Amino acid sequence: MSGRSKVTQAIDSVVCEKIEIPSPVSSYYGVNTFNEPTMRKMVSEATFKAFKRWQEGGAVIDAAQADEIAAAMKEWAVSRGATAYSHWFQPMTGLTAEKHDSFICIDKEAGGVIEAFTGSKLILGEPDASSFPSGGIRATFEARGYTAWDPSSPAFITEVALGKTLCIPSIFVSYTGEALDKKLPLLRSDAAVSKAAVDLLKVLGQKVDNIYSTCGIEQEFFLVDKAWYNKRADLMLAGCTLVGAPSPKDQQLEDQYFGSIKERVLNYMHDVCAEAFKLGIPVTTRHNEVAPNQYEFAPIFERSNLAADHNLLLMDIMKEVALRHNLVCLLHEKPFAGVNGSGKHVNWSLADDKGNNLLNPGDTPEENLIFLTILVSVVHAMFSHSDILRATAASAGNERRIGASEAPPAIMSVYLGEQLSKIIGMIESGKIEKGKKQDFVDLGVGLLPKFTRDTTDRNRTSPFAFTGTKFEYRALGSSMNVSTAVTVINTIVADSMMTVGERIKKELKGKTDITAAVLKALGGIIKESKAILFEGNNYSDDWAKEAQKRGLPNTQSTPDALKAFIAPRAVELFDRHKVFSKIELAARHNIWLDKYEKTVGIEIRTLSEMVNTQILPSAYDYQTDIASGLMVLRDLSDDMTIDMVEGALEDRKDVFEKLTADIFYIRKNLKDLDARMKKACGMELSERVAFFFSDIKPHMDHIRRHVDALERTMPDEMWPLPKYREMLFIL
Ligand code: ADP
Ligand code: MG
Repeated sequence: MSGRSKVTQAIDSVVCEKIEIPSPVSSYYGVNTFNEPTMRKMVSEATFKAFKRWQEGGAVIDAAQADEIAAAMKEWAVSRGATAYSHWFQPMTGLTAEKHDSFICIDKEAGGVIEAFTGSKLILGEPDASSFPSGGIRATFEARGYTAWDPSSPAFITEVALGKTLCIPSIFVSYTGEALDKKLPLLRSDAAVSKAAVDLLKVLGQKVDNIYSTCGIEQEFFLVDKAWYNKRADLMLAGCTLVGAPSPKDQQLEDQYFGSIKERVLNYMHDVCAEAFKLGIPVTTRHNEVAPNQYEFAPIFERSNLAADHNLLLMDIMKEVALRHNLVCLLHEKPFAGVNGSGKHVNWSLADDKGNNLLNPGDTPEENLIFLTILVSVVHAMFSHSDILRATAASAGNERRIGASEAPPAIMSVYLGEQLSKIIGMIESGKIEKGKKQDFVDLGVGLLPKFTRDTTDRNRTSPFAFTGTKFEYRALGSSMNVSTAVTVINTIVADSMMTVGERIKKELKGKTDITAAVLKALGGIIKESKAILFEGNNYSDDWAKEAQKRGLPNTQSTPDALKAFIAPRAVELFDRHKVFSKIELAARHNIWLDKYEKTVGIEIRTLSEMVNTQILPSAYDYQTDIASGLMVLRDLSDDMTIDMVEGALEDRKDVFEKLTADIFYIRKNLKDLDARMKKACGMELSERVAFFFSDIKPHMDHIRRHVDALERTMPDEMWPLPKYREMLFIL
């Protein structure tokens, strides 16, 4: 029996073990988090109040208060079975990191050990984390990085079969205060957008103390059986298939999207949700996605910082729980060519401290005006800095997906929907209707069509779409940490809110009618920014041409897209809002280029190994078989007594020639690839990654084309790798 048949048999026998899941959800939701109600019960009122003030941006709690919270946290964690703690942080690689320390310390008086945890250990950690990429920051400053507790995200317990660990969400900074992680910039950007929004609302005559960004993250993924996965070096090492012919049927019939979920997958989903609920992650939606074996989870939106932490935890849970079910959860952006890849949609909005959504059109003229002002600020932000947002979606993995006619194109644009576009058009032209109609809202200077939330008005091809009460940014890849994207959205919107505020103030000079001045200012802003608005099909070729005319960037290559981060305009922008310093930006840019280079490097080495050690040996065997068949046929055709159909020998020759040509071109392209890699070695990093995109990656595609041609014609039993139709359908 071939390796692949054995795998099919193994999959046939998979049975899901019954996992006990408590019910109802409310009885165990958040049990593994040291949340506010728990802390409130366990510390004094004064300490709790001090903590809350700190959480809302006030002074840091003092040492005694920190000790009190640490003692409570330890007591809670130990009572739930935790034996160790860890600062949990997000280094610039995009993954999460933890370094565990046990709670035990030597009891000098009584001898033996006791469980202990102090305020200073809670607040500050000093992991020996010098191997994390710092993009040069720590080489020039200090070798060590420090972790510091982020009080806005609750501590939580992670559990495996043999133990539990208390995790403390933390930022990661250098000795001199540079952000070495993704969390600190997000917190800084939230402060920036909060300040700008409070100031803007003040101009509109509204007093609000605090505003924060909210985020709801839709997470797409694939599941494959572990047995197939273990037989594919490319899936294991590169996260995606580097060769593989399409399945004769994949997503053409659209019979997977929102279809009934297979039992094995549903068991997995129940298990993931239960683990997420214990950690207070509000997962609500789960469904089938477009490609076979592709699915999605989406939690209810939360404050961005918490939503980002929860998304990272959810990704960990999804991967770990899958293994319990003999499945592997693939978070790569494009695990399979030819079918949809996986994205991560970031739904973004702003809320005030009472929880009111600023992008909710509202019912009163005041609410409507706030809504329109914020909306126009977002449009202006996208017009001014969409290149930086595009850069947040740039990675080697997502490069395979963006612009592939299923994901947003590399051209950034904003979709508002028909109704809102009309309103925006009226504000721009200053032609606000007079007269009284039911469907209009009176803004004091005339009537604007009343905006009703319309969720049917959808454009799935837009990278940045207004969807009723929030914007949905759709370009991020499924494996990415959302923090950088949210950091950018917050910062560019903060900047535009400042501009819009200034413009309104100018219009207001010497006038008393706020509404008229606001609409006039917004009209001017819309006029300047409208090139970014697009309602049509973002996948069409016409749009690419039109976008070029409008001067919108269309950057396909990751290294090129990433340049937006270090352009002088970006440096000034981030510096103005104290989100990233020039050094921090340069460090990130450097790390991302480095990661791109390493990722493509791994893909190339994996592809070469698979081709040399699995595919070519099988192809040579088949070539030998065909050659002997051909010789027999030639001998027989020389035999005058056998009546062979005309062209039969030629036809068999064709088979041999085609096969031999594919083998030849695979070998030739491998040699070329090797030579190019040698050439790339002598280049400096930015030149090398550009060369990877322009010269190396297309070569990998050549190899793939010939390998896939072999897969389509070689005997099934001789093919050494699991096929698409197996990985995508057998579960
Ligand atoms: P979709 O609009 O994509 O069909 P939903 O309306 O269910 O789906 O919303 C998708 C995500 O958007 C969910 O995670 C949801 O919680 C989130 N969301 C809804 N309102 C907001 C908001 N005000 N801010 C941020 N995210 C939001
Ligand atoms: Mg969505």
